[in-house]
Order: sequence, then C-alpha cells, then structure tokens
Amino acid sequence: MNRVATDELDRVDEAFAGNRLLSTFPTEARSIIEPFSDVVQLSSDKVIHERGIDVDASYFPYGPAMISLVVELSGGRSLEVASIGHEGAAGGIVSCGHAPAFGSSRVLVPGPALRVPMAALEDAKARSGHIRNLFCRFSDYLLSQVMQSAACNTFHPIEQRAARWLLTAQDRAGSRIELTQEAFAGLLGVQRTTVNAVIRILQDEGLITHRRGVIQVIDRAGLKQRSCECHAALESHFAGVIGPSGNAGSGDCG
Ligand SMILES: [Zn+2]
Repeated sequence: MNRVATDELDRVDEAFAGNRLLSTFPTEARSIIEPFSDVVQLSSDKVIHERGIDVDASYFPYGPAMISLVVELSGGRSLEVASIGHEGAAGGIVSCGHAPAFGSSRVLVPGPALRVPMAALEDAKARSGHIRNLFCRFSDYLLSQVMQSAACNTFHPIEQRAARWLLTAQDRAGSRIELTQEAFAGLLGVQRTTVNAVIRILQDEGLITHRRGVIQVIDRAGLKQRSCECHAALESHFAGVIGPSGNAGSGDCG
C-alpha cells in the first residue's frame, strides 16, 4: 500500500475516533460507508449544502470543524438556527434520499470532516438498525436546537445569546474561535455595532478577549453565568438522547 493510501486510512481512522456519532458505529455499520467515504478539509465560509439544492453528501466533522445551519430570508438577512461540530453530522440525517436542503449549511470554523455520499448513507440506514436509531436520536437533538433557538432569539437579551453562542462554539471548536465581528453579527441576526458593544462588555468582564478576528474564551464558568438557560438545556438534552459517552444504544427507533 502506498504512502498516500496509508495517510488516507489514518485520516479515516481519526474521523471514526473523533466524531461522536461515527465513534459509536459497530464494525458492520462502518464497513458499509467506509469504502465510499473520504476525508475532506472544510474551509471557512464554504457552503456545503445550499437551499433548494439536493443534498448529495453528509459531513461528519471532527477536530475543530464547525458547521452552521442557516435560514436565509429575502433582503440578504440570515440567522443561524443550529450548529454542528464533532458531536454530529450535517446533511441527510433527518431526510431520506436526495432531498433538497431547506436551509444552508455553511462552514464557520475550518477543519476536517468525513464526507459520506448520500447513496452510501441511505444504504447504511437501510441495513443497520444502529445507524437508524442513532440518526433518529441526533435528529431529535437537532430539532431541539431549532426549538430552543426560536425561544432564545425571541426572549433572551443579546448579551446572553452571545454568551450562549460562545459556549457552544467552545464545545465544538475549542477556546480559540476564529470569527469576524461581521460573521458573529450575521449569526446572531443583529447589527455589527451591536455585536461590537456586546464583545466589549464580555471583554471588560474578563470573560473573553477579542483580537484580530479571534475570540478567546478565558472564563468558561463566568460565561456560563452570563449565558441564558439555553446552553445548559441543550447540553442536558444531548446527554439524554445521545448519551455522555456517545453510546446511543442499538435497535430501531420505530
Ligand atoms: Zn437563550
């Protein structure tokens, strides 16, 4: 086997070890998708699923990679309703077959992901009760993110929402978050001046630092106190449906 093929196998092993969902795949389930899958590097701002276009592959991030699920409205407005990192996957989890995407999936933090073509994923779902069960559970978690976002965006002040978002980003990508103020404002659906003011407040409180497009979380406990209830609620729900060890159990979800 040549060096390139060996490196690719090593990366695939890293993906199966580093992604929460893939790490629970039994050998038989892994063997269904592995021959058709490859590791890709997701670059910042890359749109991997576009609204109205059939989803052709699912992406299982690992490492710091973070994908944002965004709803776009007329007039250029958009809002993040959920995010996905090494705990999950984007595309083809909820839907079946080549269905069009409702929102867009945009890479927020660059990093690696295992790309699984939809045909292989559908085959795996049909043949593996474990995968059907796992994806049903992750769909539940994804829906809970969207539900919580609706309530959060309506009722919680922007400082709390920003703190919540930073905690979630830290869960996915680590304490060093590469993010421009413009991108942060777009995610939260507010003006850049608003985000600028919020960042200054959180920085003055010693919770984060912000320099040259990088936000560094330096006081997670303090950020949790500053956040609304939404981060803790989703963390608890994830543990309930997927499990703290990533073991989603087995069998079909019916
Ligand atoms: Zn909230």
